[in-house]
Amino acid sequence: MATKRQQAYQDVLNRTPKHIEFNGRVSELFGKNVFHMEVMREYLPSDAFKSMQESIQNGTRLERKMADQVASAMKDWALTKGATHYTHWFQPLTGSTAEKHDAFFKPVGPGRAIERFDGDLLVQQEPDASSFPNGGIRNTFEARGYTAWDPSSPAFVIGKTLCIPTIFISYTGESLDYKMPLLKALNAVDQAATEVCQYFDKNVTKVNATLGWEQEYFLIDQSLFNARPDLMMTGRALFGHAAAKGQQLEDHYFGSIPDRVAAFMREFETESILLGIPVTTRHNEVAPNQFECAPMFEECNLANDHNLLLMDIMEKTARKHNFRVLLHEKPFAGVNGSGKHNNWSLATNTGVNLLAPGKNPKSNLQFLTFFVNTIKAIHDHADILRACIASAGNDHRLGANEAPPAIISAFIGSQLSGLLDEIEQNVKAGRMTPEEKTELKLNIGKIPQILLDNTDRNRTSPFAFTGNKFEFRAVGSTANCGSAMIVLNTIMANQLIAFKKSVDVRIDKGEAKDEAILKELQKLIKESKKIRFEGNGYGDEWVKEAEKRGLKNLKDTPRALKIWSDKKVIHLFDDMKILTPRELEARQEIEFDNYTLKIQIEARIIGDVVQSMIIPAVVDYQNKLLKNVQGLLAVLGEKVGNEAAKAQIELIQRISAHFNSMKSTADLMLTARKAANKFLHAEEKAIAYCDLVKVHFEEIRYHADKLELLVDDELWPLPKFREMLFTR
Ligand code: ADP
Ligand code: MG
Repeated sequence: MATKRQQAYQDVLNRTPKHIEFNGRVSELFGKNVFHMEVMREYLPSDAFKSMQESIQNGTRLERKMADQVASAMKDWALTKGATHYTHWFQPLTGSTAEKHDAFFKPVGPGRAIERFDGDLLVQQEPDASSFPNGGIRNTFEARGYTAWDPSSPAFVIGKTLCIPTIFISYTGESLDYKMPLLKALNAVDQAATEVCQYFDKNVTKVNATLGWEQEYFLIDQSLFNARPDLMMTGRALFGHAAAKGQQLEDHYFGSIPDRVAAFMREFETESILLGIPVTTRHNEVAPNQFECAPMFEECNLANDHNLLLMDIMEKTARKHNFRVLLHEKPFAGVNGSGKHNNWSLATNTGVNLLAPGKNPKSNLQFLTFFVNTIKAIHDHADILRACIASAGNDHRLGANEAPPAIISAFIGSQLSGLLDEIEQNVKAGRMTPEEKTELKLNIGKIPQILLDNTDRNRTSPFAFTGNKFEFRAVGSTANCGSAMIVLNTIMANQLIAFKKSVDVRIDKGEAKDEAILKELQKLIKESKKIRFEGNGYGDEWVKEAEKRGLKNLKDTPRALKIWSDKKVIHLFDDMKILTPRELEARQEIEFDNYTLKIQIEARIIGDVVQSMIIPAVVDYQNKLLKNVQGLLAVLGEKVGNEAAKAQIELIQRISAHFNSMKSTADLMLTARKAANKFLHAEEKAIAYCDLVKVHFEEIRYHADKLELLVDDELWPLPKFREMLFTR
């Protein structure tokens, strides 16, 4: 009888690509299922359209009457798309999105019904949300949480449901999601950046943070996935010896995309395009069966919604193609993990990218202002940046010599480094002579040219300047970008406010504006120097050097998360009105809990797989060997038989040694789990799971993986890496 693994493998060999043909051009499909501006113009009376436009652009409140009109238009439009239900679509702190569907349909009398949807239903909903994580903010007996409409992100139809992007708050008004603090952070950076822009251009009235994410993921066949309880339950292979061939040949990277995969990509991209997600780039990644998808960048809040939608669409579409998408940061030990680079910049309403060098000294001084302030923000708040990307999954990636290290630093390239050094040394204290000013301006004017040939790219830096944007590379592939974007935009806003204050003081003292700005920049450059690193972030030398510089290397999530209860951090988020101390505390607790739960589930699966899958296979094989030895002894007699069975006996002993070590470590882990469960405090428990439980994982796996190499291939129950990573 074939084992589960053999059946699964047979399934894979029988698969053919599922091509789905679309008629028409992709450009004609773009945004077809989105209630965007143009649709609103068509469906709304003109005064309602104007209020809606106002509300989207300036965040003004929509009057009740207008909300009714918008709801009615939204419903009429959604019905033409075949929608029967609507849902408030929100981002609880679990990391994915949530929805609760209600029908438009409403019975209004015997045998009579209408399709109903009004302003009340659009603006607010009360999902029974008692089981979403809330860090103790909401007791379950007052389980009310509210979702409230975010008009700045357009509604859309998926399948037969109208989805309305919303924030998620508690009965007492505290945020329970990523969207609400993100909107606040974006507002803060808008205000602070607009103020600073006034030094350079009075026409700037709004600054949008922009986000362009790059989503990495693995694909594996559904049947193989189903035969691996670890992948099913944790998204990561907790066992499995590396395949003889990994990624060393680099033959997968940018190679031709297999047919089955291409068919899957075409379908999920088309779905994405219908939903207005501007996906443009796809390619193979470094590891076998690893891929990447990236869109054009967009305004940050919308871009984040789009990323969450995309992850959802990818997972659904993959099933149709008999694949499973693995978004985990490190599904397979020994080959690269997955990240989600967050490309970030600031764009003005006048069409200027504030992190792109300009054509003349004036626009370059503006560029330098935003550039240097970003570096200073990173320098001052590196710990918070580390914490906002911390997760059980990302711990396997950061610092694992193929992903950015857990030490936060910024890479800006040798040319810009040279320029900052020059400013640091050449801006004179006191009044500058006209010659000195001209000299400096000439140098600043050279920025675009020097960037043109600035081709050095540093893939080992967690935070890299790439010519016209910063790329935060340490974000994990499962993460809600909101977490990183809340922090980045908040610390930037905070830094810009401080900068403006200092420059204004200098101007009040009689310094000319440009000189005041340059001197302030010089000060920031000096103060933030230690965060700049141009070398190899994977090297051991960097770990030593970083320590000398006083940069932290927080290797695991529980240590990184501690920063959220630091007084300075609490004040920062409170002062900036992004998160109250209570909200911050709740978030920290949720993060600790998330970590504990993830490790706890992994520990259970490890125990289960060892006990009920690996041990039986090992015993089976040992029995086979023992029978063989017994047979040899019986036929050949003890002396000759022992000589003939030498290799088998040695093998039996090797297997027993690994078997015993695996089993006894698994037992130790079980005891440790019981001890860790006794901690009641979220932080202590997370630390216990990290230091007492997780420490055993590698040892157990080491022996299990050795057994995989020793035991008869026919008997091994778990699909092997070579099967999961090299079949298409
Ligand atoms: P690569 O990094 O692969 O060379 P690009 O530099 O073209 O590719 O861009 C990578 C990502 O950065 C893309 O997703 C793109 O949308 C995004 N991006 C480009 N410009 C900006 C910007 N001003 N703000 C935010 N993201 C941007
Ligand atoms: Mg990139």
